[in-house]
Amino acid sequence: MSDCLFCKIAAGEIPAKVAYQDAQMVVFHDIAPAAEVHLLAIPRAHLASLDEATPEHDALLAHMLRQLPRLAREHGLDSGFRTIINTGKGGGQEVFHLHMHLLGGTKLPGFKCTD
Ligand code: 5GP
Ligand code: ZN
Repeated sequence: MSDCLFCKIAAGEIPAKVAYQDAQMVVFHDIAPAAEVHLLAIPRAHLASLDEATPEHDALLAHMLRQLPRLAREHGLDSGFRTIINTGKGGGQEVFHLHMHLLGGTKLPGFKCTD
C-alpha cells in the first residue's frame, strides 16, 4: 500500500473536506489554510511533483487546471484567485504528491521572497 498522504486522502483512507472529485482528481480544503479559501487539487494517480510529469500527463494537468476557475467561483472568489504549485524541496514542496494550491479571499498571502 502507498505510504503517500495524498494517495490516502484520494482513496478516502484519511479524511479530508472534499470540495470536488471526479475520475481523475480530488479537490479538498487545506488542513492549515493560508488564506480565507485554500484548496488543494491532486491527481488520483500518484505523481510526486511537476518535475515527474511527462507528455502522458498533459491531458490530466490541463483537466485539473481547468477545474480551478469554477471551484474558485463556487467558493465565492468572484474577483480572482491565486494558483501555486510548489515543486521540490527548493520550491517549498512538503508533500510529494503533486498538488495545485488554490488560494483566495482575505488574508491572501504574498509569495515574493523577502530575504
Ligand atoms: P506543499 O508545501 O507541499 O506545497 O503543501 C502541502 C500542503 O498540504 C500544506 O499547505 C499543508 O497545510 C497541507 N497538508 C498537509 N497535510 C495535510 C492533511 O493531512 N490534510 C490536508 N487537508 N492538508 C494537508
Ligand atoms: Zn501519492
